[in-house]
Amino acid sequence: MSDERLDAYYGLPTEVVYCRRCIMSNQKPHSINETTHVAGSKKATMGVGDDGICDACRYSDAKQDSIDWEARERQLLRSLERFRRTDGSYDCIVSGSGGKDSMKIAHMLKYRYGMNPLTVTWAPHMYSDIGWLNMQRWIHEGGFDNLLFSANGKVMRKLTSLAFENLYFPFQPFKFGIKSWAAKMAMKFGIKLVMYGEPYAEYGSTTLEEADSPEVGWEFFVNDAPDVYLSGVHTDTLISDHGLSANDLLPFMPIRSHEVADHDIHVECLGWYMPWDPQESYYYAVENCGFEPETQRSEGTYGKYASIDDKIDGLHYWTHLIKFGIGRTSFDASHEVRNGHVTREEAVALWHKFEQEFPSRFHADCLEYLGVTEERFQQVTDQFRSPHLWRQDPGTGVWRLRHTPDEVAQAPAAERGQSIISSSA
Ligand SMILES: [Zn+2]
Repeated sequence: MSDERLDAYYGLPTEVVYCRRCIMSNQKPHSINETTHVAGSKKATMGVGDDGICDACRYSDAKQDSIDWEARERQLLRSLERFRRTDGSYDCIVSGSGGKDSMKIAHMLKYRYGMNPLTVTWAPHMYSDIGWLNMQRWIHEGGFDNLLFSANGKVMRKLTSLAFENLYFPFQPFKFGIKSWAAKMAMKFGIKLVMYGEPYAEYGSTTLEEADSPEVGWEFFVNDAPDVYLSGVHTDTLISDHGLSANDLLPFMPIRSHEVADHDIHVECLGWYMPWDPQESYYYAVENCGFEPETQRSEGTYGKYASIDDKIDGLHYWTHLIKFGIGRTSFDASHEVRNGHVTREEAVALWHKFEQEFPSRFHADCLEYLGVTEERFQQVTDQFRSPHLWRQDPGTGVWRLRHTPDEVAQAPAAERGQSIISSSA
């Protein structure tokens, strides 16, 4: 049977096409406002053009070839002047939980550009030791005021468990927070500028048109629909059937557009004004805020310094792999190919080595947090494997991806970056 006849869940393209430059595929879903996300939602996905190049690589080409970064910095200075306050009050908000990017954003705004940032934190599900250490380093070594908000742990767990069962997306309750909490705090404190790091276009998580402006579209954190869904469940049902109250749900609720308009809030990406490279953010955070990487490689990839705050991070990437056939190595290696740190051949080798590795380190913590048994975990996992992406070996019962990033022609030598594998093996 040809793959074209196999069911594709979530509205994914039935034919898997890998970018010939990086190792992302056309199965990469666009980012959405999570308060509209239900089990039957169809995903818009990243484009891979007829030339075999994906939207994220196309954005990367623009970063290298056609964007005038000096003009962009002048634009940044004009924007900051617009929001700057000299009366001692806060003039911008940076959201983060102790990761390298939020460290860099806050530090640059305060110490390079003389802004007065208030940093805000929507607490992870379960802080890892290294995540908590870096959170403290950010505040104490970096030198920032910080507001840490920790949502009611029982409610967070309940929503995480429902998001796992209904959407296979246990990371969703954290997404509610990181997408809207900063803007909510901006409104509360009368601050008009919220600054994030890299634009969504950097990951192919939105259309290329979105990359024309430094502002994050309201659609990512504002929802005016009368029906709001959290963990794939209507809020009325969460109250009537799941024992939650309107007050329990308050921190997770979307912002309404009139609130943003009334407060004249601008949500922007610093990475639109300057070239953004995760590896450079890492070095910057180490030097200026005392950031520490993990002592061991994150499971599912070869890296040690990205998405390490939350014990559920590994599971988050695993669920992405199950649903879309794109895991943690694909994210890390694709970015590094675009930034010239690894070649595509190396990325493919890393993919074979790590992409389908299960995140076992915090698995027991995750099962306990979700309140599910190992058996139930596997049942739910298998329900979310799209048939067009996964094949089960009839003999061993082992699931493997049907497609691999080897399935494209080798990129021309001129497009390959320098090698790191020999030095990191
Ligand atoms: Zn690409």
